[in-house]
Amino acid sequence: MSEEHLKLVMKFGGTSLGESSGIRHVTGIVQDYAQQGNKIAVVVSAMSGVTDKLIEAAEKASMRDRASIDAFVKSLAGRHAQASQDIIKNGEILKQTLGSLNQQIAELEKTLVGITYLGELTPRSRDYVLSFGEKLSAIVVSGALKDLGLRTESFLGGQCGIVTDDRFGEAKPLMNITRQQVKERLGPAIAAGAVAVVTGFIGTTQDGLTTTLGRGGSDYTATILGASLQVDEVWMWTDVDGLMTADPRVEPSAKTIPVISFSEAIEMAYFGAKAMHPRALEPASERGIPIRVKNTLNPNSPGTLIVQEPQVEPERVVKTAAMIRNVALITVSGAGMVGAPAIAAKVFSVLGENNIDVLMISQGSSQANISFVVSRTSLEKAVNTLELSLLGSGFVKEVTSETGICIVAVVGAGMKGTPGVAARVFKTVADQGVNIRMIAQGSSELNISFVVEESEGVKALRALHKEFKLDC
Ligand code: ADP
Ligand code: ASP
Ligand code: MG
Repeated sequence: MSEEHLKLVMKFGGTSLGESSGIRHVTGIVQDYAQQGNKIAVVVSAMSGVTDKLIEAAEKASMRDRASIDAFVKSLAGRHAQASQDIIKNGEILKQTLGSLNQQIAELEKTLVGITYLGELTPRSRDYVLSFGEKLSAIVVSGALKDLGLRTESFLGGQCGIVTDDRFGEAKPLMNITRQQVKERLGPAIAAGAVAVVTGFIGTTQDGLTTTLGRGGSDYTATILGASLQVDEVWMWTDVDGLMTADPRVEPSAKTIPVISFSEAIEMAYFGAKAMHPRALEPASERGIPIRVKNTLNPNSPGTLIVQEPQVEPERVVKTAAMIRNVALITVSGAGMVGAPAIAAKVFSVLGENNIDVLMISQGSSQANISFVVSRTSLEKAVNTLELSLLGSGFVKEVTSETGICIVAVVGAGMKGTPGVAARVFKTVADQGVNIRMIAQGSSELNISFVVEESEGVKALRALHKEFKLDC
């Protein structure tokens, strides 16, 4: 394939699919690249805010709140129908689009009503409800592309071949079978010049049950497709110019990073929480497929290119600073833990068995306690299971927890083997009068992360951003 003609996966996030004008703009971008002769698979997220609203609706339904369903379904249907009517001019295409929307809306309504009868929301039915966000937006985007005269073929995540395990809510693709199926099903469509439109975020189990890939999972869909189709690049279109030196909502002087390695971007995704789904980088990195993060509002800017090899500039040891909120600190303590190495193993195996992700760990040299950080949503489950399995063992005296904290992290490949970075980080934070509660450095030396009071996180992050000259 010549250099001008690329095989691309383009993923559009919810931030780019706000209202009609956003969708119109996005389809214009696809049209431009398709007309230049590029082969394109488009991955769409739900329209902005829709996934959160679906979660809320499912939870209300599980509390037998039948009354709220009608209003919710009506407003969701109205929003998608309105966007279609605003964008699609061709009467026949509009009719088909509205018909497909209505079918999905009716199915969603039936599902929510079913949940009110049962009065319970299983992870499996929750995933099914969540899948409608992407199903609806893909219908609108596909209709809008057809209206522009493009030939499209639409696929649900499962239809195009994405098969996952059955960890509902955080499903992982079974890559061997997925690669094979996606190649067979999607490959011919784009080779023949159609724009493939695929719902992000969702897959199916081998038994055909709908799963979701975790919040922000459309990024993952894009790289799964990219790796399966061996595309030239995967483009993640979003509402900022690329991956940045900090979340621009927290640090207004944040700058776009032109090039970054997969390993740095993985750390960044992990600590930056939202900009990119952490596991999304794996399929692309394994196959060496570059990812480009681009801004729909500034399409000519090159964005951020994520590639295999780290580019270390001596004066840029730290590339980005990030913060994770909504976490909690758990401490397991007891004098009996000293010299009892099996306790740490027990703690983490209990957490692992219960699917609780541990974000950071530290054990004091006295060994009288182990502290670690988990997401706030899994706090209660973590404390309960630890108490059940550890108290009474004679070694552990108590399990305590604290919620008013956050993690701050700096990431950069240049930190590896550069002495004094940690000292500089902690001095900068101390100079702000911010107390550090816990410290961790991964053995990869790609990040240094620490825990502070939640109310002081922004101050610490901004001071580090300045110290490492990320604003220049
Ligand atoms: P999308 O809908 O495109 O998937 P997300 O909301 O998931 O968008 O992610 C984009 C947002 O991530 C940006 O608007 C930005 O505020 C936030 N963000 C946080 N940290 C960073 C960072 N380091 N670089 C870029 N964006 C970041
Ligand atoms: N719609 C899903 C979410 O909000 C997936 C995504 O946007 O990537 O998490
Ligand atoms: Mg996202």
